[in-house]
Amino acid sequence: MTHELHRLITAWLPSTSTVHLTALTIAQASVVLQLTATAPTTACPRCAVPSSSVHSRYGRHVTDLPWGALAVRIHLMVRKCLCRNASCARRIFTERLPEFVATYARKTTRLITTLRAMGVTLGGNAGARLAARLRRSTSASPLLCLVRTAPVLATPAPQAIGVDEWAWRRGHRYGTILVDLETHRVVDLLPDRSAASVAAWLAQHPTITVICRDRSDLYADGICRGAPAAVQVVDRCHLVQNLRQALEAWLLGRRPALQAAAAGTAMARTQADGPLPAVSMYRGRRQGPKPAELREETARPPRHARWVAIYEAVHTLRAQEMPLATIARRLGISRPTVYAYLRRDTPPGPRRFHWRPSARVLTPYLPDLIRRWRDTQADSRQLWREIQALGYTHSARTVCRFITRLRRAADAGHPPESQGSPYTRPQGPAARAVSFAMVSPAVKRSLEAQTYVDQRCQVDTGIARAHALSQAFLAMVREGRGEDLEAWLAEATHSGIDELARFAHGLQEDLSAVKAGLTLAWSHGVTEGQVHRLKLVKRQGYGRAGFALLRQRVLQAA
Ligand SMILES: [Zn+2]
Repeated sequence: MTHELHRLITAWLPSTSTVHLTALTIAQASVVLQLTATAPTTACPRCAVPSSSVHSRYGRHVTDLPWGALAVRIHLMVRKCLCRNASCARRIFTERLPEFVATYARKTTRLITTLRAMGVTLGGNAGARLAARLRRSTSASPLLCLVRTAPVLATPAPQAIGVDEWAWRRGHRYGTILVDLETHRVVDLLPDRSAASVAAWLAQHPTITVICRDRSDLYADGICRGAPAAVQVVDRCHLVQNLRQALEAWLLGRRPALQAAAAGTAMARTQADGPLPAVSMYRGRRQGPKPAELREETARPPRHARWVAIYEAVHTLRAQEMPLATIARRLGISRPTVYAYLRRDTPPGPRRFHWRPSARVLTPYLPDLIRRWRDTQADSRQLWREIQALGYTHSARTVCRFITRLRRAADAGHPPESQGSPYTRPQGPAARAVSFAMVSPAVKRSLEAQTYVDQRCQVDTGIARAHALSQAFLAMVREGRGEDLEAWLAEATHSGIDELARFAHGLQEDLSAVKAGLTLAWSHGVTEGQVHRLKLVKRQGYGRAGFALLRQRVLQAA
């Protein structure tokens, strides 16, 4: 071996000062390095007194990081020494090289660090696959074992944290996540969502002075018990979300008014005669409700009751042998819903997840379709051929169904454009859609939503009042004007809108934390981001990872 090569290999070794390279052999697919420990003295693991009295030598076989395609095996000669400390119970001990290889380990420390990082980032199976690609052959369970035994990272004690829930299984089992709002790192995961566990955790972390949370009583209670001196901050997004829920609950009781307004908006929309909107035949995909909404399931029976009534009607009409399409039309629901309800033996429960509308193949062609239909009154077969030329590959039946709807709506006095927007459809927008429009800034509303809200406010003093209150609340949230909160609460309480008065009452009960949320700059966004990341890690484990493993993976990943 040339001198340069020897130096190069020595420099590549970990802890070069304590080991010496004596030989190197290359076998078929691996390199074998012979190393000897060279430190002049070595400390007794029991009493830490250094000793240089060598009793014997013995060899350890360990694996190190590969060199490209070559696996690296190390034959490490270490010494056994005599402990000369008379008061020590240990007679003979083996020399340890902790920075090189841990006691009893069969892999070097740096190889273990690499494998652990793979396990933390990718989980067991994917980590093992990557390791195999990189010639660090291992399997899933040892990799997960490395993740489980990873040492706790030393991080500065947190001052400001965010606390939120995360779902083990949506609607069934929840845990708690605690995030440092300054470093954006996850500080800890708790296996449950309870005031007691949050209180116990906070009691062990006395440095925390600010805690950002949602509006649940549960965390408020836990914080009061565990960190009574800490400033509680209610997250602004949760406040707006709760306001929206209150508005939705109120609007659900006013469906006929929403419906009546749609026709007016459709007319106004046509008179404006702007360019054709990028319309969609179906309502956009709705997100499943967030956990916070789930807990308030009991607070929204109106919507559920409506679906139970529809379910009963579907079965009654079907028993009278009415065709499916007629049932759908008469009840104002989609045919897939009719099918789904006929398959059921019991009325639907409160809905947790919404069906995703399936066919949206027509969406990109709707503007052309509507324009051509209006200009030429061509039949659906002709229109189908025209959009086929534009790239449409699906059935003529879908086109036909849509054109029939257009024709029927036009006969009823609703212009074709009105088919596109929930605000202009004959059945009117969902209470949910209107509530979202009311809590969004005017500049972010669609033309239809804006027209709709404007018209409603002109003719309906209740909606005008609710809208003004919502917008005032949003402005307060946006501009951080916590000092205006009490005036707003008084106004909402006397607005005559029960749902808003109840919302205001809830805020009143949690006044200092809500005010802090409106005044201080702390944001819950970091915590919610970490909850999303946690979901990803959880899914990587295909729901099989236990809490301990999940916690390690979340905490170890920076
Ligand atoms: Zn000793």
